[in-house]
Amino acid sequence: MKKLCIFCGSSTNVAQNHLDLGKEVGHLLAEKNIGLVYGAGSTGVMGSLADSVLEKGGKVWGVIPDFMIPWEVCHQNLTDLKITKTMHERKQIMYDYSDGFVALPGGLGTMEELCEILTWRQIGTHEKHVWILNPNGFYDGLMDHFKKLHHERFVSDEHLELIQERNDMNEIVSEFLNGEII
Ligand code: AMP
Repeated sequence: MKKLCIFCGSSTNVAQNHLDLGKEVGHLLAEKNIGLVYGAGSTGVMGSLADSVLEKGGKVWGVIPDFMIPWEVCHQNLTDLKITKTMHERKQIMYDYSDGFVALPGGLGTMEELCEILTWRQIGTHEKHVWILNPNGFYDGLMDHFKKLHHERFVSDEHLELIQERNDMNEIVSEFLNGEII
């Protein structure tokens, strides 16, 4: 089974449309038989995403450091839960398990994970695809900043192309399923 790692927000204090997006994406993953790898939380977009994959009979791999279990309100019904000692170990496992990465709306944790996996691609640590789902312009500011970094020549043409922005999750899923696992 091909697996997508999804980075997204854990905050419960966000507008309903973000939670609804998590749900929509989760249903699509289950329908297309794509496994979800994520940070094992039960709150916010993370929670609605995992719940909706499971609701449709899909599979979810959660990875969480032990010290974050109470803080992130660890999801109790995942297909598989891996508990790590450190955040670095968590991220390494999430990245190793997955065949591609998608950022949905989220906060600082999401930004960190997105930038890290992009920089790992940039230095050749992996060759998996990284997409940003940009519904309703949520990530327009971030995309403008990436373009500014390129314009100011901090980011090369080649590396700007690694940041694949899409408005529709269906597009990401079809590119993911039709692409090679490298
Ligand atoms: P957030 O976008 O801040 O709601 O966080 C989303 C996910 O990112 C959660 O699973 C957090 O545990 C995770 N996260 C938070 N901080 C970091 C960090 N420094 N490095 C990696 N992941 C983090």
